[in-house]
Amino acid sequence: MTVLASGSKGNATIIAAGSTMILVDAGLSCRELMRRMGQVGEDPEALDAILITHEHLDHVAGLSVLARRLRIPVFFTEQTHRAWVRMLTPRTTMSYAKWLEMVQREKEARAEQTAAACASDDAEEALCEEFGEDSRGVDTSAETIGEEVRAVKVKADPAFLPAVEYFRSGHGFSIGEIDVNPFTIPHDAADPCGFVFHAKSESIRMAIATDLGYVPPNVKMALKNVDVLLLESNHDLEMLKDGPYPWSVKQRVLSRVGHLSNTAAAEFLTKDYDGGAHTIVLGHLSEKNNLPELARLAAEQAIGDRLSLLGNRVALAVQDTPLEPICL
Ligand SMILES: [Zn+2]
Ligand SMILES: [Zn+2]
Repeated sequence: MTVLASGSKGNATIIAAGSTMILVDAGLSCRELMRRMGQVGEDPEALDAILITHEHLDHVAGLSVLARRLRIPVFFTEQTHRAWVRMLTPRTTMSYAKWLEMVQREKEARAEQTAAACASDDAEEALCEEFGEDSRGVDTSAETIGEEVRAVKVKADPAFLPAVEYFRSGHGFSIGEIDVNPFTIPHDAADPCGFVFHAKSESIRMAIATDLGYVPPNVKMALKNVDVLLLESNHDLEMLKDGPYPWSVKQRVLSRVGHLSNTAAAEFLTKDYDGGAHTIVLGHLSEKNNLPELARLAAEQAIGDRLSLLGNRVALAVQDTPLEPICL
């Protein structure tokens, strides 16, 4: 595991085993991701796939450019993919006046063929599709709008990816020599998840669990028997309460679908963690509401006398520089 970046300004982690290399999240620009891979001695061209935890910008900022450049598939849950596409697709692909004109034209054309009563329903449906409200997604909506608009849309489609693969939380799958087990996490995104990775050739398991409001039973279960764990330790409760964020943002961070505090991470490590990991990486630290020393202290106290030279080493992933690769 190599954490290239961790925090609210961008997240990306490399997981590699045998000849397979996966990037989990692409929350920095393509250029910066490639630069950081160079820094840690990894060749971006060797990446086999990109896996996305959720659609928040700090996890997807460089996604489309990187995937297109490397021509590699991107793995999402279907809901995360849809949310990401919605985020990137402009709400309208034409001016209101032009749209009104188009609807009117379509309406007239339909009225010639069908009863007038039906025509207005269809126009309304076209409106929903055009404005992205339709749950059937962008491909369907592209069919309903004019050829000219479609051409413009495809040409400038910021959500175009070379290949998209869907997975579902709770259902394992494989990428090359790595088994991937996604699990649901509580966070304010469409369908957020964490991952456990298992190298097929060895009995090594690594997990990523960041961006979660609390640690529910399914996450506690998923994080058993891992050798390396990237765990969120987002904020110090006191610093957050006294800090600069507006009240609404503080409420969001503290909520059950926000982020894990140092205290909550420590509570997990005290009560639920089985003590078997080689390294615990603390990640997604807030730059405004946390201090690395506070996060480390809380975790090390929680691990207590289980901390040793061979096990339970605590490392801190940061925003600005990659973490030294963890090789087992
Ligand atoms: Zn998030
Ligand atoms: Zn995040």
